[in-house]
Amino acid sequence: MKTKKEKSVKIKHCRQPATVKRIFKAGVTEHRRNAILSSSLKWVNGTEITYMFIEGAESQKKVVRQAFQIWKKLGIGISFKEVSTKEDSLVRIGFDHKEDSWSWVGREILDAAKNERTMNFGIDLVKDAEGMATALHEIGHAIGFQHEHQSPFSGIEWDKEAVYKEFSGPPNKWSKKEINSNIIDKMPANQVKGTAWDPKSIMEYEFGAGLVLEPAAYRPGIFPPGIISANDIKGVKSFYPPISKKSKLQLHKSVTINAGTGGQSDFIFTAPSTKKYTFQTVGKLDTVMVISEKTKTETYYMAGDDDSGLEKNAKIALPLVKGRNYLVNVRVMYAPADQSGSLVVS
Ligand SMILES: [Zn+2]
Repeated sequence: MKTKKEKSVKIKHCRQPATVKRIFKAGVTEHRRNAILSSSLKWVNGTEITYMFIEGAESQKKVVRQAFQIWKKLGIGISFKEVSTKEDSLVRIGFDHKEDSWSWVGREILDAAKNERTMNFGIDLVKDAEGMATALHEIGHAIGFQHEHQSPFSGIEWDKEAVYKEFSGPPNKWSKKEINSNIIDKMPANQVKGTAWDPKSIMEYEFGAGLVLEPAAYRPGIFPPGIISANDIKGVKSFYPPISKKSKLQLHKSVTINAGTGGQSDFIFTAPSTKKYTFQTVGKLDTVMVISEKTKTETYYMAGDDDSGLEKNAKIALPLVKGRNYLVNVRVMYAPADQSGSLVVS
């Protein structure tokens, strides 16, 4: 029987693709920038995240579908739907075992070209004991969560030489740059929600002995259980609580966006006639606005606009159909002190 240490050495870890650092215009204060960055990867709550498989055996797809179900059953405000075309999809999933397992993070996915995969599984999800944990972990990235061991609150001090040696060898074979960006670099504290590190998180890697110097308790290794932890549930529900309250939106009647930094206001609009409507936020709030059509059973994403960090307002013009219902979800990325905002449809 293998010991935990031997087993961990052979694990092919999740390697995240390098991302482009967001540049803000001069004049955007640090406070505003950090507020925007701390939630910019998260989806607007209520979004239906469509996914499709670009390849793979049914048995592998089944594990991924189950993992989406496990996240959804936590009772969160976002939902998932499998679609069959790239055009309809946000998340595109592949099973290339020559690569590692990885996923784009949250709203970064919107920057991916429609022919690109945004998630890959580098292991056999059925045969590998880590299969379900890996599926849950990559979906965690897709809904906007990052690696827990890079939390600025972990207090982890690495034995860097040991980490470079371990991850430059098989099966990972990472470059020093990849090891830094996936393990050693910490996220800036002022851009992260919460204040605690969760070593049991599904977003935490397993590490063998001899890699962590401090805290001393983790010198023998870090062994997360591979399930969504109590803290993960708390975190995902704070970003994506179930949406129950929706204010009615009426033509030409301005309504207050009743939310502060990181919060969200949700509205429903029934189109009085078939024509083009313009939805616009008013005021100095930084917002991301998403419009979806709502049927009895489903929510279809139609359009989104992000004005965060810019001196303009979110604005969406769309042709709508008489009598149909449309959800308008407004995530407040940053609300300056003493400033409120409103929403109007014309
Ligand atoms: Zn990962």
